[in-house]
Amino acid sequence: MEIAIIAHDGKKADMVQFLNKNKDILHRENIKLIATGTTGGKAEAAGFKVKKMLSGPLGGDAQIAARVAEGKTKMVLFFKDPMSNHPHEVDINMLIRVCDVHNVPLATNEATAQLLLEAIALK
Ligand code: PGA
Repeated sequence: MEIAIIAHDGKKADMVQFLNKNKDILHRENIKLIATGTTGGKAEAAGFKVKKMLSGPLGGDAQIAARVAEGKTKMVLFFKDPMSNHPHEVDINMLIRVCDVHNVPLATNEATAQLLLEAIALK
């Protein structure tokens, strides 16, 4: 199952902490992680194998949206920072819309991301 991770700058530290907390699930054989560029670099530095897309502002969110539309990415864990503005807001909204169009689970905060991963862990 391909899971996409995206974290805005203000949430990257929380995202790394979240990955470490959930490493037992995330290191499972059947889980493949993809991420926007900088997020992916941080996840790699924490010891996770990640396929990196472009950085978010350069089109990484759009690449992930395309994978959702193609049926490749099955879940998106998006650590959004609601307290900052982003030059690629249109791409972010597009990703959210594409997840809704294709009924793909999308977390936009850590608590929801945790619940989604726990749902996988039960499988
Ligand atoms: P980044 O992109 O992981 O390359 O920082 C995240 C984003 O801002 O969408």
